[in-house]
Amino acid sequence: MPTYDFECEPCAYYAEISQSVHEPSALKCPVCGEQTLRKIYINPPAMFVRGDAKSIGQLADKNARNMGFYEKQDRAIKDGVNQALNNEKNEKRKNSRD
Ligand SMILES: [Zn+2]
Repeated sequence: MPTYDFECEPCAYYAEISQSVHEPSALKCPVCGEQTLRKIYINPPAMFVRGDAKSIGQLADKNARNMGFYEKQDRAIKDGVNQALNNEKNEKRKNSRD
């Protein structure tokens, strides 16, 4: 019997389960007690067709960038260095012109 990887999304429970190809791809999660334990298909072509991995990656990248920006902005306001940052920027611009 082949071994399949199963993962439960809600609780991140992971298990390797041997089963025949005729058995269901969704099992009862021992942690959740729900039918949320699903077979993981490691099939790149299917992922490309769905395009999920790519869009999720881009979304995460965008969020991370926004988070960094807001964090920086928040810190600047908190420390009251917003004006100082602007001055520094102007100074750099002046220097690069020289
Ligand atoms: Zn679970």
